[in-house]
Amino acid sequence: MTSTIKTIGILGGGQLGMMLAQAALQLGYRCVFLEDADNAPASLYGQVFKSHELDKFIAASDVFTLEFENTPVDTARKLGELDNKGGLFPPADALQIAQDRLAEKALFNQLNINTVPYLSVSSLDELRNACQQLGLPLVLKTSRGGYDGKGQFVIKTANDIQTAWHELGDAVTGQGGLTSTPAPLIAEGFINFSREVSIIAVRAKNGDIRYYPLVENHHKNGILAKTIAPADNIAYLTEQAQSNIGKILTHLDYVGVLTLELFVTESGLIANEIAPRVHNSGHWSIEGAYCSQFENHIRAVTGLPLGDTQIAKPSVMLNVIGKYPDINQLLSIDGVHFHHYHKSERTGRKIGHITITADEPNAAVAAIEQLLD
Ligand code: ATP
Ligand code: MG
Repeated sequence: MTSTIKTIGILGGGQLGMMLAQAALQLGYRCVFLEDADNAPASLYGQVFKSHELDKFIAASDVFTLEFENTPVDTARKLGELDNKGGLFPPADALQIAQDRLAEKALFNQLNINTVPYLSVSSLDELRNACQQLGLPLVLKTSRGGYDGKGQFVIKTANDIQTAWHELGDAVTGQGGLTSTPAPLIAEGFINFSREVSIIAVRAKNGDIRYYPLVENHHKNGILAKTIAPADNIAYLTEQAQSNIGKILTHLDYVGVLTLELFVTESGLIANEIAPRVHNSGHWSIEGAYCSQFENHIRAVTGLPLGDTQIAKPSVMLNVIGKYPDINQLLSIDGVHFHHYHKSERTGRKIGHITITADEPNAAVAAIEQLLD
């Protein structure tokens, strides 16, 4: 175990890695990245190694973390077990569970955290059976590799069953879909939620836990478009959300930032999924909280005391998706903080975000939403 950490090795080099590096540099650390994409956003902040250069990445790092949850678990486990390095945070077990919706839901149930009713599906017959048992509508999802709503099909009537199987069934044998790892599909009962919220928490090596406030998330075409921090009228659910994520953090002996996505229903919160990393619904915290999710993750990974997760200013975060807005118009609005990810424009791609901090943000938010349209 190294006693002093100078360089943090991050698995993945996207915008999350970029913002982790911004926080790390401020605290006196350097970052290097393991990432195969060219021109990755994080490359502006530290050296990027490709997967075939794993040995060099390891040599350059004192401790490891991740920003990309589809990192191979075997690689993660190997990094965590190197006895001349400071470990991998969060642990590889957390990554393994978060990569598999069935394992994730099983863990939630084991910890008495409410989920939708669900069934594993490996054949068209099992899908028909699931539709009968769970009732329609239901959501059929690949259990691995999904993001931004990809790898999902809502089955509304019995006529959709064949089409849904045709679209997603290949994932069962690893022939198609979003990863080449063969894995069953998951059929989930469709939830008529009133809204979607998430909670982000951070756990330190000594077991301390800090919780960010519950935030409200709005999606467009399956992609997160807007986060409101804090969520309105949510105090009555805070204890349940904190208890849920706290149980997961403790059970996994987790170190770092963890995100839990939740549905709000009449009977309380239903857990949807975890992300074992900093999360898009926490970007507001850079300007809106006393200590951001990125800084707190770096603090946890390097063994520093955790920072204050409370809201400093009410915030609204808007994702920049596909096309950059006019920066002159954007910055003429007070309370605007723009984060450019140095990515090229492409339909459906997250290329930046904007946080509006203001006690009354609605007018600014409406103006910016128009600029983004
Ligand atoms: P993201 O990357 O945005 O987190 P994802 O691809 O990991 O998305 P989910 O978060 O599971 O997938 O689902 C995406 C969205 O689809 C949810 O935010 C929610 O709006 C809707 N959804 C998912 N599961 C259900 C369900 N069982 N019932 C109703 N709506 C659902
Ligand atoms: Mg999700």
